[in-house]
Amino acid sequence: MGISIPVRLELPKRGDVPRDRRGRLLTDLRISVVDRCNFRCPYCMPEDQYPRDHEFLSKSERLRFEEIERLATIFAGIGVRKLRLTGGEPLLRRDLPELVRQLAHVPGIEDVALTTNGSLLADRVVALRDAGLKRITLSIDTLDPVTFASMSGGRGEIGTVLAAIAAAEAAGYSQLKINTVVMRGINDGHLLDLVEHFRGTGHILRFIEYMDVGTCNDWKRDLVVPSAQLRARIAERWPLVALERNYGGEVAQRYGFADGAGEIGFISSVTEPFCGDCSRARLSADGRLYTCLFASAGHDLRGPMRAGATDQDLAGIVSAVWNARDDRYSEIRSEATPGSREHVEMYAIGG
Ligand code: SAM
Ligand code: SF4
Ligand code: SF4
Repeated sequence: MGISIPVRLELPKRGDVPRDRRGRLLTDLRISVVDRCNFRCPYCMPEDQYPRDHEFLSKSERLRFEEIERLATIFAGIGVRKLRLTGGEPLLRRDLPELVRQLAHVPGIEDVALTTNGSLLADRVVALRDAGLKRITLSIDTLDPVTFASMSGGRGEIGTVLAAIAAAEAAGYSQLKINTVVMRGINDGHLLDLVEHFRGTGHILRFIEYMDVGTCNDWKRDLVVPSAQLRARIAERWPLVALERNYGGEVAQRYGFADGAGEIGFISSVTEPFCGDCSRARLSADGRLYTCLFASAGHDLRGPMRAGATDQDLAGIVSAVWNARDDRYSEIRSEATPGSREHVEMYAIGG
């Protein structure tokens, strides 16, 4: 099921570092290693649309680890420095530490990170660390066991994820990122408990506005809690100070607790869009390149790779796709009629 993309590809010269049509570099690649998940979060993969017998990619459709490593090497050759493994649930690929080991040795790659729901992390975190995994982001939407269960589609258990955090701390991950998707009327009453729990631990809680990624989650703007409101609510109890961005293209706005108890972040794609210096591309588990989280189609790299394309050919394709990129969906979202656009699903390309 090939998707062709209506861009005219002009192949760049060897060694060129591509810039998109807005002058943005490609420095960050998110790699979805599997589209399956053991959770069914309603904002991502609602149970009614993804029952247990849903057909995900087959093993032969998914990229093999050596294919991922090869593509990562090609991306590194044109400027990518950071890789993030995601999914679906990336730890459903049992031998993920082996992939991390391969990627950590790719010349030019400075950072390999993981985003996970934490359910399968505890007994593999040491192997991941030993393989060279630098950073971990875990997703926790609430500490309340009943709401946690419902926000994972009846599949998750908060105790397991808290145990994974303890295991990660014991393995030396002293500054985890904790992602919390905020949905009005569902978990927004529990957010101060999360702040209280993680304040002072060294971990960084990041509140993400519920986004209109994909088309299966029936997104409604009413369910979005604007970060500014949430920030004000938190600051009433624990005064906050704005912090500088760590690097260009950082998605979270950073705030520190005025009393020195660490930092929190807000990812406000809906109310405070931030496409200006977005330097991220996404590779789906079946080898398609997406230049925006809200893209409707990706560019197939697996086909040419399996048909014998050279590294130079593949670098040329990636550079040409990037050169043609003009994405700034968050900034123009309000111009689009809600529901009028097809978006690739989040679990297919990762967060
Ligand atoms: N399964 C892993 C996990 O949940 O961490 C990795 C993949 S998941 C797609 C990556 C991130 O996307 C998670 O932190 C998740 O909460 C976030 N996410 C998924 N759907 C979202 C939505 N509609 N709006 C905002 N964030 C979303
Ligand atoms: Fe799975 Fe992550 Fe999507 Fe939840 S957000 S359904 S854990 S991929
Ligand atoms: Fe980047 Fe697309 Fe998100 Fe804008 S909407 S920040 S271009 S991924």
